[in-house]
Amino acid sequence: MFITLSALALRSGARTFRLFCSPSTDEKPQPSMLRHLTSKIKSTGPVTVAEYMREVLTNPVTGYYVKNNMLGPEGDFITSPEISQIFGELVGVWILSEWMGAGQPKQLQLVELGPGKGSLASDVLRVFGQLRSVLGGASVSLHLVEVSPALSRLQAQNLTGDSSQEADAEDEPVYRSGETAAGLPVSWYRRLDDVPTGFSIFVAHEFFDALPIHKFQRTEKGWREVMVDIDPDKEDQLRFVVAPSPTLSSSTLVQADESRSHVEVCAEGGVIVQQLARRIAEDGGAALIADYGHDGTKTDTFRGFKGHQLHDVLSSPGSADLTADVDFSFLRRMAESDVACLGPVTQRTFLKNMGIDSRMQVLLRNCSDPSTRKQLISSYDMLTNPSKMGERFHFFSLLHHSRLAKPKKVEGLTLEKRSPAPLPVAGFTKLKFS
Ligand code: SAH
Repeated sequence: MFITLSALALRSGARTFRLFCSPSTDEKPQPSMLRHLTSKIKSTGPVTVAEYMREVLTNPVTGYYVKNNMLGPEGDFITSPEISQIFGELVGVWILSEWMGAGQPKQLQLVELGPGKGSLASDVLRVFGQLRSVLGGASVSLHLVEVSPALSRLQAQNLTGDSSQEADAEDEPVYRSGETAAGLPVSWYRRLDDVPTGFSIFVAHEFFDALPIHKFQRTEKGWREVMVDIDPDKEDQLRFVVAPSPTLSSSTLVQADESRSHVEVCAEGGVIVQQLARRIAEDGGAALIADYGHDGTKTDTFRGFKGHQLHDVLSSPGSADLTADVDFSFLRRMAESDVACLGPVTQRTFLKNMGIDSRMQVLLRNCSDPSTRKQLISSYDMLTNPSKMGERFHFFSLLHHSRLAKPKKVEGLTLEKRSPAPLPVAGFTKLKFS
């Protein structure tokens, strides 16, 4: 069951540690997005924050994710898989361990939602390659759900070199496909719905925080939705307003016993997590969701990032990333009728439970170059330090109910006979039985 990490080598040309790069200074105004939003608001009235966020991030022509390469030093933010190869390797070990916990099915679909540059998938596949004997004859395929054609090209370059091809027709569910150097098939989809059914392990790193949120404000007259409107004093500026009467969302998305005075609800995240849960319940598998977030306690977390700095969410829309903390309690509520939920646990806890310390020792032992050693140590610190990413990021998992089933006592036998206890779920310390 335990997979030894010493089998893995240091990735050649390890990624440079790039968090503390200077912010980019060139302000590129995106007047077309602002124009698009103001003309929409002029014709149909203020838009919900969810509609605003969806347009700004994923509009097929001018959306932030569609147009930009936002990850890295010249971009707007950096993520754990970009900081260190160890991150993706440990996720790879988690995937293998859940595949083993499920009885080593013959087919393994690895499905990643929002793969960014493809670094996490690439590190996971390297672990699969190096632990080929563990996987035996299982047939592995990679399925990437990516809304951005520009990022899909980057992912294809990283994962399949020049081998990938775009689909002939625009409405094909698989809009790009290719093969890794080791011969594993890779397919790209716009929506989770398009990914074929079958035993799958789903991974979503910093994906749910990019999905549109609704914002609601408690008022004397009850819950009201926060909307985005044009500033009456300045034609080219947007501002938040509170809807004068209830909207469909404010009447249906706020919990009856809600005690906060301001809440954010990511309805789209709820739908996606329900799809994941249903697939896992029907076809087997697991999901690993990692993101910054809270357990239904925070209020206003909507923010923008540009050039590694905080950015006003309403100014120059389309030029900055927009994000909101993930409400894990909401995801749990949406999923728990179909699957067992574990976590959230902090990134530090998860990575330590996955053996990051021994992995670091192996890498350091095999590395004599002082600058690479320094880089390894600082990236380890960035990932695990409680004041850096260690406690800001959390891991949450959806598992098939059978994975955590309590051992059954067989009735009517004098000798107590039990089915074997379930294997522990790697990375999560507290197991919740349901
Ligand atoms: N997982 C990567 C990238 C995070 S950025 C990492 O951690 O480095 C968010 C990713 O999700 C990008 O690849 C973005 O294009 C994609 N994305 C955002 N909204 C999406 C949506 N609605 N559907 C599919 N992909 C989406």
